[in-house]
Amino acid sequence: MCIFCKIVNKEIPNYTLYEDDLILAFLDISQVTRGHTLIIPKVHCDTFLTCPPETLAHLSVKAQELAKHIEKQTGCKGMNILTNVNEVAGQSVHHFHLHLIPRYDSNDALELKFHPSDEQDFTTLVEQLSFK
Ligand code: AMP
Ligand code: ZN
Repeated sequence: MCIFCKIVNKEIPNYTLYEDDLILAFLDISQVTRGHTLIIPKVHCDTFLTCPPETLAHLSVKAQELAKHIEKQTGCKGMNILTNVNEVAGQSVHHFHLHLIPRYDSNDALELKFHPSDEQDFTTLVEQLSFK
């Protein structure tokens, strides 16, 4: 059983902020910034891509509510809301989780930098990736 399933089953302690039948929100053990929170589905799924859509919809709505609450309670100036899919993207726990990372200062412990590539082939890309 994965570590987050053990948290759901209360085999491992956690600092719960919110819980209902479908999801659990708790403090990340490595507080990148103060209030860093994880929201997970109670049902095991590896990533965002395999989360049941109804669960994902519910989790997203609650994530927005909780993010507003954390913003109000902490006075943070912004937030990064992200999920990593697979190891290549930095996923270390293979049970889908959404990170809520309050931001107080752009020089805090979170470094997220988009370095633009020299990709210019937008015509092929739009043909390949357009979605109906
Ligand atoms: P990721 O790298 O996106 O898979 O993030 C996994 C996150 O889970 C990391 O930020 C860890 O600090 C966090 N984490 C791992 N174990 C625990 C735990 N027992 N309780 C709370 N957070 C955890
Ligand atoms: Zn799991």
